[in-house]
Amino acid sequence: MEINLIKFDTTIGRTKPVTLIDDRHDACPFCDVEHLTDIIDTDDDIIFLKNKYNVVVGADQFVLIEGRECGADMPDYSREHMIRVLTMGLKHWRRLLECGRYDEVLFFKNFGPLSGGTIKHPHMQLVAFPELRAELLFDPIELNGLVVERRDGVELNVSTCPRIGFGELNVISTFELPIDPMAEFIQAGVHYLMHHFRKNMTSYNIFFYHRDEKIYAKMIPRFATSPYFVGYNIRFRPNNLERIASELKAFYF
Ligand SMILES: [Zn+2]
Repeated sequence: MEINLIKFDTTIGRTKPVTLIDDRHDACPFCDVEHLTDIIDTDDDIIFLKNKYNVVVGADQFVLIEGRECGADMPDYSREHMIRVLTMGLKHWRRLLECGRYDEVLFFKNFGPLSGGTIKHPHMQLVAFPELRAELLFDPIELNGLVVERRDGVELNVSTCPRIGFGELNVISTFELPIDPMAEFIQAGVHYLMHHFRKNMTSYNIFFYHRDEKIYAKMIPRFATSPYFVGYNIRFRPNNLERIASELKAFYF
């Protein structure tokens, strides 16, 4: 099987502050704006900077702090703030992709204790790899699905061939199309996953992808990952996809 096998520095990993776990009382580094270093770009309280903890060996890592509110989540943002956050992220993602120094640049968000993140303060990450086999990262079929809404050429759908299994929502757009529908679809999708999808949801990821002219955002709710997937690469196609699509339509559009 072909895979990307990347070195991870566990000694740096150990020094990273953790603010997502209740019994650790590390101070939030993203609230302490005065002591942030290596800032690359700002838009009011939105800050794009180098990541202090480069755990992925050989990659250049960046952080996009989404605002000053430590306990906020994307659905809480005003539409205008959400558009500004996404604009900042897409701008630097595209710049890094086009600068010629990297094979691939990952752009993603961890939210909540089961997302793989360590910092609660809302942020996204960009990780730029000088060498990485981009064709192994995803299959575009994982971004297809039952269409919930289309606006200005931008689509929101419910994955019919998920990467793992349950409740995966996709947005399909391009760098040229207006950002507003993508921002709105992501806010609606995250709100749905956190409030209507299952009881007591705490965590999700958003993964951005690009292939040919298209860009994608995939929202995945996170809970204990299915052992069928972890152990055997088996993915499920749940039988509630139509219900999810009709609920999304009814609640948000
Ligand atoms: Zn904070």
